Amino acid sequence: MKTHPFSRRDFLRTASVGAGALAFGNVLSSFAPKPNKKLGIALVGLGNYSTYQLAPALQQTKNCYLAGIVTGHPAKAEKWKHQYHIPDKNIYNYETYDQVKNNPDIDIIYVVLPVFMHKEYTIRGAEAGKHVICEKPMALNAKECGDMIAACKKADRLLSIGYRLHFEPHNMEVMRLGQQKVYGKVTSLDTGNGFTYRGDPNAWRLKKAMAGGGGLMDMGIYSIQASRYTLGQEPVAIKARQEKTRPDFFKEVDETIYWEMEFPGGFVTTGKSSYNHDWSYLNVVAEHGKFGLGPAFGYGEVDGYTSAGPMDLPQVIHQAVQMDDFAQCVWQNKQSRVPGEEGLKDMKVVDAIYRSLDSGKKEKIV
Ligand code: NAD
Repeated sequence: MKTHPFSRRDFLRTASVGAGALAFGNVLSSFAPKPNKKLGIALVGLGNYSTYQLAPALQQTKNCYLAGIVTGHPAKAEKWKHQYHIPDKNIYNYETYDQVKNNPDIDIIYVVLPVFMHKEYTIRGAEAGKHVICEKPMALNAKECGDMIAACKKADRLLSIGYRLHFEPHNMEVMRLGQQKVYGKVTSLDTGNGFTYRGDPNAWRLKKAMAGGGGLMDMGIYSIQASRYTLGQEPVAIKARQEKTRPDFFKEVDETIYWEMEFPGGFVTTGKSSYNHDWSYLNVVAEHGKFGLGPAFGYGEVDGYTSAGPMDLPQVIHQAVQMDDFAQCVWQNKQSRVPGEEGLKDMKVVDAIYRSLDSGKKEKIV
C-alpha cells in the first residue's frame, strides 16, 4: 500500500506540475491570507465514516479541527470526549442539536448520517448559523436537494457535499485530461463502482425509506460523478436496466444497475453500480490516446494511467484535503468547488435512472 500521511508540500508541488490547471486553482487558494483561528467542525452521526475516516483525518487538517460531536449514544459521546479532548459544552444529541447556534467553537457542521436524515440535519445546521458539509448521496431525491440549497442560501451559509475525489490528485488529473481534451475528444467512457455487500441484512442501507436506494445511491454516485467530471458536461438522458441475483437480501433496494448516459451532441457513456460486484474503475478512450483510473474511487490507494504510462501522483488523505479546502472557502466566503448544486446534478441523474427502470425506456434528465 503506497498510501502515506498527507504531505501538503508534496501535494502542492506535484499538483502544480502534474495535475495542471484544475489543481493549480487549489495551489493559488492555499496562499490566500488566513485568519488566525482554525475552524471548528462538529461531526453529526458517529458511525463508521466519522469514526474511521473523518475523525482521524481531522487530526491531519491544517485549517480546521474536530471541535464537537452530535450523537444519540451517551457511551459514544463519553469515548469520543476522552479520545479527542472534546469539552462537554461541545457535545450534543439530536434533541439539543439546534443549541449549537450559541456555540462559537463550532463553525462547520458535517452531516454524516443515513441519507433520509441529510435534509433535516443540513437545514437545522444552516438555520443554527453554521456552514454545512453534507455526505453523499446528498439526499433521497433531487427535490430534497433543492430544499437544502434554498435553506442554506436563505440562511446565508455555505453548503458543500462530501465529494472527496475532487481533491484527489488522480481524479483531478482525469478531469484535466478529459476537460482540456489533452488526448483529443473523448470517444468512449466506461466506469463502474461497487462492492459485495455482506453486512447486516437489517441495516439502513438496505431500506428504501432510509437510503433512497441501494448500490446506485451509495456507489453509483461515483460513476455518475466520474462521467460528468471527466467530460465537464451535463448529461441529458439515460437508459438503465437492473439485475438482482440476491432478491431476498436486496428486497427494497437495487443490487446492480447498468446504464447508458447521453450527453449533448449524442455522445453516450456507459456506467454501472453494484452491491454485488467489486468494481472501482474509469476507462476513457480519446482520439489520440487513453487514460483511466483503477482503483478509482475508494479512500485507500488510487492509481491511474495514460497512454504515456502510469500516473505518478501522490496519495493523499482525501477527507483532510477536502475539509481544509472547505475551511478556506469559509474564510474567503467563496462557494466550494463541490457545492450543493453538484449534489443536486447527480441526484437528477439518479432520479432519471429510477424512472428508466420503471418505464423500461430512455428518460430525460430534468
Ligand atoms: P453508519 O451506519 O456507520 O453510521 C450512521 C450513523 O448514524 C450511526 O452512528 C447511527 O447511530 C446514526 N444514526 C442516527 N439516527 C439513525 C437512524 N434513525 N438510523 C440509523 N442510524 C442512525 O453509516 P456510514 O457508513 O458512516 O455512512 C454515513 C454517511 O456517510 C452516508 O451518507 C454514507 O453514504 C456516507 N459515507 C461517505 C463515504 C465517502 O467516502 N464519502 C464513505 C462512507 C460513508
